[in-house]
Amino acid sequence: MKFTVLSLFPEILEGFFNSSIMSRAVKNKLIEYNFVNIRDYAFDKHKTCDDAPYGGGAGMVMKAEPLAQALESVNASKLRTIYMSPSGKTLNQELSLELSKEEEIVIICGRYEGIDQRIIDLYVDDEISIGDYVISSGEIASLVLIDSVYRLCDGVITRESLEEESFQNSLLEYPHYTRPEVFKGLNVPAVLLSGHHAKIVNWRLKKQLEKTIANRPDLLKNGKLTGKAEKLLNEMVIQEESPNGYNKID
Ligand code: SAH
Repeated sequence: MKFTVLSLFPEILEGFFNSSIMSRAVKNKLIEYNFVNIRDYAFDKHKTCDDAPYGGGAGMVMKAEPLAQALESVNASKLRTIYMSPSGKTLNQELSLELSKEEEIVIICGRYEGIDQRIIDLYVDDEISIGDYVISSGEIASLVLIDSVYRLCDGVITRESLEEESFQNSLLEYPHYTRPEVFKGLNVPAVLLSGHHAKIVNWRLKKQLEKTIANRPDLLKNGKLTGKAEKLLNEMVIQEESPNGYNKID
């Protein structure tokens, strides 16, 4: 899969592509990338990429012409083109999975108050937000999107790691422990040391349910649970007044 990213500050993106799992995926040719500096397509001698908003108001707006030229240079009209924007639809695991199936995506990183609306009208397929808050740069937002998408591409990380993650089957992930067995007086739960695979699976599923009820009950309301999870959930009594919003029967 290829990520083509249009930005005024591509240096912000570089560290991510040169480190850790991403750099390995690039080396193994699972992932390709291309950074386009929008300023290279500014046409005046000051390389201006922003201007005051029509209608007045605070801040500056990214100009349409350099962006359009930059988009044309990468054939954006033929590719799925995304604008990172707080007013887009919110990124979630389902959307990341969908995007991971594309061969190439083009991502526009906004700055200032954002980009001229006509760029959105003419070139953008999806406006995507990383959450209900405003940050100052599309670069950071695009890295969030890229990170959530590239790791779902075939061969980047093992299937097993993906299968048990948060949001799979509408549940958050179970807690993890590694050596030492006792840390500051806290023991690793005995079941994890038992070597009893079925019991471990059951315990983890129960922990997933407990955590989801406590932190994200909305996932349970809207999601699809496996039969086994549903059965376990029914065994757990939901009590609004308990501190975490739930109690276990057993
Ligand atoms: N004036 C805009 C905010 C601009 S922030 C508004 O009120 O909606 C500058 C840039 O940061 C945006 O163009 C966008 O590319 C990026 N950005 C900020 N918050 C974001 C979010 N929650 N999701 C995705 N991109 C975001």
